[in-house]
Amino acid sequence: MVISRTTPQNSLHRVIFVDSHVHISLNGKNPRDWRRLLAEGNYEPIVKILSLYKSKNIMMLRDGGDNFGASLAAREIAGRMGIIYKTPGWAIYKKGRYGSFLGKPVADIADFKSMFCELLKAKPDHLKVILTGIVDFRSYGQFGGISFSYEELYYMIQQAKEKELPVMVHANSSAAVKMAIEAGADTIEHGYFITDEELQMMAERDVIWVPTLSPLGNILENRDFRYRYQNQIQIIKKVFNEHLATVKKAIELGVKIAIGSDSGSFGVYHSRGFFDEVRHIKKCGISENQIFKMAFENGLKALNIKPSELKSIHQNNKEF
Ligand SMILES: [Zn+2]
Repeated sequence: MVISRTTPQNSLHRVIFVDSHVHISLNGKNPRDWRRLLAEGNYEPIVKILSLYKSKNIMMLRDGGDNFGASLAAREIAGRMGIIYKTPGWAIYKKGRYGSFLGKPVADIADFKSMFCELLKAKPDHLKVILTGIVDFRSYGQFGGISFSYEELYYMIQQAKEKELPVMVHANSSAAVKMAIEAGADTIEHGYFITDEELQMMAERDVIWVPTLSPLGNILENRDFRYRYQNQIQIIKKVFNEHLATVKKAIELGVKIAIGSDSGSFGVYHSRGFFDEVRHIKKCGISENQIFKMAFENGLKALNIKPSELKSIHQNNKEF
């Protein structure tokens, strides 16, 4: 791709990429070793990964959080490399439910209040709330249930808004996504098993959806995973195809979709993941150019990128 300093504003989406959902605290294959390495304070692997992102012109990233400061460290390193890196610090999850490796637990609103004070000290770029579990490959339609009540979720989101922080909600199922939209979420992450009603709501309220097709799409494409997921492949296929059809419908309805690969989750590798996600979304019949446009325009919104930040990318990287 030819890049010049004079790249016009309206074709920036072809040269600068935004991955709206990554996890630097995971590496796609051996999370335990990876996390141990980073937890020891060895950030060389983060530098390597960020260099990979940069080499592919993925200059803006949004992390989903972790419980040991990896994404906060990544933000600092990224800043020195001219990459814009947004992190919630750590995600908030309900005590006893899914999310322990991505965040810190809260039992109730009182608990959240003190946790939020602590979180603000880390200067988060957004609040990340984990509202449900993840798609269960063993049993169709299962996602681990909804962790917070509407009142709890609403309260957390309002607190974030008071501090002018956008809110990223990890949610699967129609009920959970509906609840997140009604409570004021800015972006919905994953959103498996949703219906037309939630799509309409997202379109009307200008909520951004990050469908993260790659964790399932890569399993289906990659033969190495055949053994691991042998008994579950039919379910994965069904869920993936339904999700893809929902993405297609969402685009028709005017839902703003951002491209988030979920890089770091099993089988999704940093930097390549962005292009995996583009390839999977392409399967619903839209052009690559349109996908890059969505990735860029809705990515800027999802990451809450200010004009001055975009300008800094230009200035720090003279090739754009
Ligand atoms: Zn994620």
